[in-house]
Amino acid sequence: MNFNKPEAFPLFAVTAFTMNSLDEVKECYNSRYTYVRTNNPNRDALGQIVSYLEAGEDSLIFSSGMGAITTTLMTILKPGDHVICNRNIYGETFDVMTKLMPTFGIESTLVDFDDIENVKKAIKPSTKLIYSEVLANPTMNIADIPALAEIAHSNGALLMIDNTFTTAIAIKPIAFGADIVINSMTKFMNGHSDAISGSITTTKALTDMIHPIRMLCGTPGDPHAAWMMTRGMQTIDLRLKKQMASAAKLAKALEQNKYVSKVNHPSLESFPQNALAKKLFASDDTMSGMLSFIIPEDEEKINKFMLKLNLAHYATTLGGIRTTLNHPVTSSHSHMPDDERRKMGITPGMFRLSVGIEDADDLIADFTQALEVFGE
Ligand SMILES: *Cc1c(COP(=O)(O)O)cnc(C)c1O
Repeated sequence: MNFNKPEAFPLFAVTAFTMNSLDEVKECYNSRYTYVRTNNPNRDALGQIVSYLEAGEDSLIFSSGMGAITTTLMTILKPGDHVICNRNIYGETFDVMTKLMPTFGIESTLVDFDDIENVKKAIKPSTKLIYSEVLANPTMNIADIPALAEIAHSNGALLMIDNTFTTAIAIKPIAFGADIVINSMTKFMNGHSDAISGSITTTKALTDMIHPIRMLCGTPGDPHAAWMMTRGMQTIDLRLKKQMASAAKLAKALEQNKYVSKVNHPSLESFPQNALAKKLFASDDTMSGMLSFIIPEDEEKINKFMLKLNLAHYATTLGGIRTTLNHPVTSSHSHMPDDERRKMGITPGMFRLSVGIEDADDLIADFTQALEVFGE
């Protein structure tokens, strides 16, 4: 067989590569492909795309976003080390910090990153890592990445940022001083809600350390998932630019709706950290495809509202090409006491939206007609 250069990157659905002599074996072990858990062309190709997008030195592809997070933490932290983590964080990451890491002798302090003084006060001589998401779920609170980088670096710690809600199309955390960027590629990066994967982008020196731990943990991404991600990533710029612009437009429209008491999106002037948003993001239309809003706490009417929506539907994921909504009080924040949730601005009337690639005006019209149930 004699292949030409394929126009699309082929799927290497293969667990091992063959060798014909000991000379070739030695060569492969040093620089080429051997066994699938060690290395695979689809993961490598995808890693190069992610490095380009995040403007980072090197990237590794994992079985999931959580695989990327846990493998990286297990590499860079040792017993006795201390982590400062944003309290407003993805549920499983919260559990990793508060339940899993302590079993390995790693201490964590979770504080509210809205006030940067909280982070400074939490610093200890043993602090090795500061961890945050760019935008918190579902309130969209922004982490001040340059300020966090400054605190981390002046105390000999690393800054690790989860870019899942924003993606490199909105912001490149490394350019603002982050040392490690993690993405759950399951969400916006793949964009099609049909595959799971995660990535880490950082220095080559650090990926060289994480790579062997990934082999031990068994967390490298499956080649087929990596191939699906590569396909999804070809449209990331088109999708995200549309999703982010539509989210900004929908946020404005919802804010003007008489049944909506509050909308959270960094582009809004009413957003408490709008000035910080303007500093970190290039424009109102390139901040995030995510938003949240609050409607009256009337469960019967909320059910009717959900049933009346034609385009958006409930799903426990985000970042897909179709608009999805989710209800934090019954999902991500269901275990938190009501008064604590309310202090964070999360009420039973809150919905989180992941805006898809539908026409923005169609989405506005759909939400407007569904919200009319509150006037009945
Ligand atoms: C989904 C998600 C993760 C975990 O990613 P998986 O691919 O589901 O393991 C981590 N962080 C954020 C912000 C997420 O939304």
